[in-house]
Amino acid sequence: MADKTYRRIILVGPPGSGKGTQAAILAEKLQITTISAGELLRAEARTGSELGKQIAARIDFGKLVPSEIIVKAMLNEIAKPENSAGYIMDGFPRSMDQVEMFDKLIHTSEYQDKNLEPDLVLLLQVPDDYIFDRILGRSQCANCKAMYHEKFKTPKVFGVCDICGGKEFTKRADDTHETVVSRLRTYRSVTAPVIPYYEEKGLLRCVDGTGPIDVVSEKIRKIVGY
Ligand SMILES: [Zn+2]
Repeated sequence: MADKTYRRIILVGPPGSGKGTQAAILAEKLQITTISAGELLRAEARTGSELGKQIAARIDFGKLVPSEIIVKAMLNEIAKPENSAGYIMDGFPRSMDQVEMFDKLIHTSEYQDKNLEPDLVLLLQVPDDYIFDRILGRSQCANCKAMYHEKFKTPKVFGVCDICGGKEFTKRADDTHETVVSRLRTYRSVTAPVIPYYEEKGLLRCVDGTGPIDVVSEKIRKIVGY
């Protein structure tokens, strides 16, 4: 038995490391919400607001959305009463810039009494060839948004969604070879520097992200302590 269950968790890892999948499993087990920076921004982009248009243009070209926008959006989300039991952050923070802004804002009067500080940072480690395989093969049911993969998770009946019976599948606009190369480069130069920072704070734990989903989630379960 672990003597502590972590409940304010940051998931870090290269694109395609399985963060989204593992975040969903953790969220269900811990009964807390996954807050995906990407989803949060895409939701804003869909509203068609002025801010949404700026975000959409950047997402479509694989560029980064300004840190102020992301940090504020994430903080507002984790500070909501429905997230008071904890959170899992997927895809945030993406840079030291964001970490510094987040750590500063979290101690301002608006947030300091809400107990928002992360207590665990999980790093999912996977080699590059895995990343290309995983990202380029994935698709989503256009109707219910269930995720599939041409190698690792095909529907039981070819071309038919297991969940809703839908027959239309879409790929994310940024799941192309070129954008994966660019996102990996960005991950190494911009995101990876947050790893030693969290290691120094004593929050970092590393997980081998290769292998079947349930094997990886079992490794995570032991660390998180549920
Ligand atoms: Zn479906």
